Amino acid sequence: MVIKMEFHKNNGVEYLTFPSFSHLGFLNHAFSTRCGGVSQGEFASMNLSFGRGDPQDYVIANYQRFTEAAGFDFNSLVTSAQDHSANVKNVTDADKGIGSKKPPMHSVDAIITNKRGVTIVTYYADCTPLFFADPVTRSIGLAHAGWRGTVAQIAKKTVEKMAADFGTRPQDLVCAIGPCIGKCCYEVDDTVILKVTQIANIDKNGLFTNKGGGKYMLDLQETNRRILQSAGVLPQNIELANLCTKCNSSLLWSHRATGGKRGTMAAFMAIK
Ligand SMILES: [Zn+2]
Repeated sequence: MVIKMEFHKNNGVEYLTFPSFSHLGFLNHAFSTRCGGVSQGEFASMNLSFGRGDPQDYVIANYQRFTEAAGFDFNSLVTSAQDHSANVKNVTDADKGIGSKKPPMHSVDAIITNKRGVTIVTYYADCTPLFFADPVTRSIGLAHAGWRGTVAQIAKKTVEKMAADFGTRPQDLVCAIGPCIGKCCYEVDDTVILKVTQIANIDKNGLFTNKGGGKYMLDLQETNRRILQSAGVLPQNIELANLCTKCNSSLLWSHRATGGKRGTMAAFMAIK
């Protein structure tokens, strides 16, 4: 299934959604862009990271603008604490406010929940956003997969944690892979490619192209799609954004396009 994400603009805030997730009905989800916030300079304008030097008042104002525009409760946010781990955390009402109104968690790159009204949030600026929804057990998840999370198979670990905690069957899962740096722009060296070739149980054919000189172009979206499939997710249940952050850096934050002087996007999801 290859469908373009849907674009929304509400009160100046621009964001994206997946048709396959909107149709599920039991959840609300959104992926932010760099447009519609109040931040200035290199963070202009929708920066959702507290940790990059943007004044906290601006970041909070951005969250308030975004949650109002996209239909989330600011007080219900539970945000990740990403350090390219493969750690998955199951969160509940008691975790609301973590990372925005309370101190952050430690080393959590994926969040899952089956509690209504808990808004899970993960961060991106080239890395791969992974969305999970199980309409049978009414549970959800988000995972952050850069190359480290990808080769550590955080996609598969999120499926396994949802199975263990919620009884999710992989064949019931609806998944989506959001905007990330594409094979067109993601140059890596042979240390990364060696790890990719060591990922178990997936076909490596076409995942990367050798440019010579120890440089390769890597396809993070397709690598994660194949890992999801190896975890039992059905191919027709995986929607792809096919949207490169670096090629679309006027709409999306890209670490590589900005040389690291940038704000941060976020994925949001909550069970209604
Ligand atoms: Zn590109």
